[in-house]
Amino acid sequence: TQRFVEPLSGAGRIVNSYENARASGERIVDLVERPVSVRDRADAVRPERVEGRVEYDDVHFAYLPGRPVVEGLSFAGEPGETIAFVGPTGAGKSTAAKLLLRLYDVDGGAIRIDGIDVRDLALDALRSNVGYVSQDVFLFDGTVRENIAYGAFEADDEAVVAAARAAEAHDFVRNLPDGYDTRVGERGVKLSGGQRQRISIARAVLQDPAVLVLDEATSAVDTETEVLIQRALDRLTADRTTLVIAHRLSTIRDAEGIVVLEEGRVVERGTHDDLLAAGGLYSTLWSVQAGERATDAVLDRLLRAD
Ligand code: ADP
Repeated sequence: TQRFVEPLSGAGRIVNSYENARASGERIVDLVERPVSVRDRADAVRPERVEGRVEYDDVHFAYLPGRPVVEGLSFAGEPGETIAFVGPTGAGKSTAAKLLLRLYDVDGGAIRIDGIDVRDLALDALRSNVGYVSQDVFLFDGTVRENIAYGAFEADDEAVVAAARAAEAHDFVRNLPDGYDTRVGERGVKLSGGQRQRISIARAVLQDPAVLVLDEATSAVDTETEVLIQRALDRLTADRTTLVIAHRLSTIRDAEGIVVLEEGRVVERGTHDDLLAAGGLYSTLWSVQAGERATDAVLDRLLRAD
């Protein structure tokens, strides 16, 4: 464990907890610090098997008293389905998703997985059954291999490489100075947003959770990378319940359910076709983005012609 004798500040502290967890064989897939109020109940449940039915039942949440961010959110997703949150910035999409990961506890209503209130699930059971994929994923100061295997300490090299392949990360990783042994984070190479997203996908492939929270990338990647990432995500989300915080509506056309949020409230819901037909906020957002896609395509062609 030589590698982790580093300063106990910033990422060093987290590496240290990584090392502790590794020693005790725990899974640690904490994303951000949880408030101390979020903790295991004495009789917390660890289900043998999670099918992945997700239910939000009249969920209310506020970060600050009197400033509600999620107000009466209800929907259900069957195992394997994709449910998308759509809406303007600040609508409460990320917050609503964080409540499923139990980064915060609801103030009212309940969130259930297979009928079990997430507050009754042991946090380690919740973490191992609900994955999280994002471009802002936390990479600690270790190797690419360790970052992919994060939370799955039993994973051997073969499994790590297979996960990286499924995540369309293998080719770029192979081309890093030390391949899978390249250090990333504070003292290593800095990965691009698209590369981080793929490391995060590889991590989720290894973790293999029944439920996935997917925060789509907001920052731009080139068209080629976008295609790779979409392919990796299609594979990853195929047979698990996915809650996607959608930024680009073109990626959620096939979602079983789309929940349109505005100022913490559901203003519309349905499939892509339902919502286009309804001619409300979703269809406006769709038109705006369709315009942007057309402009992008023209710019792309012009740039390529250079
Ligand atoms: P979206 O994902 O739709 O852009 P967010 O869930 O990030 O929306 O934010 C919803 C509202 O909650 C915003 O007004 C935002 O400023 C506020 N908010 C988000 N995170 C926090 C936080 N950690 N503390 C206080 N307010 C927050």
